[in-house]
Amino acid sequence: MSAGPITIFRARRILTMNPARPEGTHVAVREGRILGVGPLEELVGWGTHTLDDTFADKVLMPGLVEGHSHASEGTFWRYTYVGRFDRMDPEGKVWSGAGSIEDVVARLQQAEHTLQAPDEPLSGWGLDPIYYGDRRVVRADLDKVSTSRAVGVMHASGHIFNVNSRALERAGLLRPGVNHPGVPLGTDGLPTGELKGPEAMSLVGALIGFDRERLANDEPGLRRFARLCVRQGVTTATDLANLLPPEAVSMMRRVTGEARFPVRIVPFRRFQAMTARQALDHALALRGESTDRLRLGAIKLFVDGSIQGFSARLRWPGYYNGAPNGLWYTPPESIRELYALALQHGVLVHSHTNGDQATEMALDCLEQAMLGQPARDHRFTLQHCQLADAAQFRRMHRLGMCVNLFPNHHFYWGDQHYETTVGPERAMRMNACATALASGVPMAIHSDAPVTPLGPLFTAWCAVNRLTASGRVLGTAERISVADALRTITLGAAFTLRLDGEIGSIECGKRADFAVLEDDPLEIAPEHLKDVRIWGTVQDGRSFPAAEP
Ligand SMILES: [Zn+2]
Repeated sequence: MSAGPITIFRARRILTMNPARPEGTHVAVREGRILGVGPLEELVGWGTHTLDDTFADKVLMPGLVEGHSHASEGTFWRYTYVGRFDRMDPEGKVWSGAGSIEDVVARLQQAEHTLQAPDEPLSGWGLDPIYYGDRRVVRADLDKVSTSRAVGVMHASGHIFNVNSRALERAGLLRPGVNHPGVPLGTDGLPTGELKGPEAMSLVGALIGFDRERLANDEPGLRRFARLCVRQGVTTATDLANLLPPEAVSMMRRVTGEARFPVRIVPFRRFQAMTARQALDHALALRGESTDRLRLGAIKLFVDGSIQGFSARLRWPGYYNGAPNGLWYTPPESIRELYALALQHGVLVHSHTNGDQATEMALDCLEQAMLGQPARDHRFTLQHCQLADAAQFRRMHRLGMCVNLFPNHHFYWGDQHYETTVGPERAMRMNACATALASGVPMAIHSDAPVTPLGPLFTAWCAVNRLTASGRVLGTAERISVADALRTITLGAAFTLRLDGEIGSIECGKRADFAVLEDDPLEIAPEHLKDVRIWGTVQDGRSFPAAEP
């Protein structure tokens, strides 16, 4: 039997995440997999090899795993960015943040001038009115951009659209008597132009350029997303809520199968507008379509909305500013049924819960579903789960659940959570990483890109420092160590995807997936963890420099 050629990479330091051999200086790779880590003398025993010195002055970590992102981060850059903070696109260009609602409108006006066809819609993304005081954006704001073409902006959370009058009119919604929990009305009895939650959003999505089917099947977007992954050291990334129509699956299979595609993509089928049985059947059929770089067959469901959009479901005492409670996205009987079927067939389900009432509902549903099923290694994961308290983490542990927390929120919305949405105590408890680990709940942390920028080392910095944009530390007791944070963005996330046997650490038998760093994350001061410079990645033994044209 003939084996492929062996490459031995030399590095300044290799952080393996393998407790039996935490560090090394050399790693031997054959056929995209790791033969071993150690000193050169040990590895030469594998036989004839090439010694590769490209990384001699760099630090290798396991390829970073983003357990909650969306490939639409690559798609959205074709729309107008109107977010609050400066943000880098997949090609490395930094776009500046918008400082006010007027600024947002001005940017859209500027983009509007570049459109050719008179009825082409104008789409923006990244809006969050909460940064600009207590007033919401209304259709009159966007009417300043255009009254003749549909204008629509997706909120940073992805859970709300703001549209202009023309878009409402085209959707047949610019009339009195609209009665929908996701369509707030103004004092004139007409919709304000805000559309909350997937059902209300679907009424206008296609009219304002956010067509879900098209978003699912955007080849240039997938390629740009992959570039961003390389730039951030990511070798495996989820696309956590795709409708996965057949043409999207065949596009993803073709693109990810290309010899130079640099990322393993793990799409989850969004549970929406179908029965639990249909979702399960679709997941099982997709499982058979999996390839090495496209892992299909899991399901994502949404229990509620977003905290800063006031569409998350909170337990008593509710929102700090008195806002009414949020929205249920999926009825409990559907959740229970889906959990039961998925447990029975070994299908992985990740559930979005933001508010603690939504988390409680998901825990109740799983507990009930498990009554009819033997205990098993299901790895059902609560995604975001931002407001969970200690008792809920104990329940997760008892039920065998994992959690994927969202520490980026502390930086991007921590000040708003402290002052407006949930108040000081719950703002400090949010994304309780230390409590999750102490409770023995397997944990990942994430960016939810495009909600916040993709970048696991930035996310790790957030979990370690818990600083808000204004510099406030939110919840000193919930900070975690750098070592724990690095584990969560590698093995931790891999575990929630049932991929920890293949990726997440650098050890014999695993995939040769590395994040190649210029700086040592264990040596740099914890407050500078986000500044670690990234050379690029190695994925399945293939090198991808971030600077590659
Ligand atoms: Zn998400």
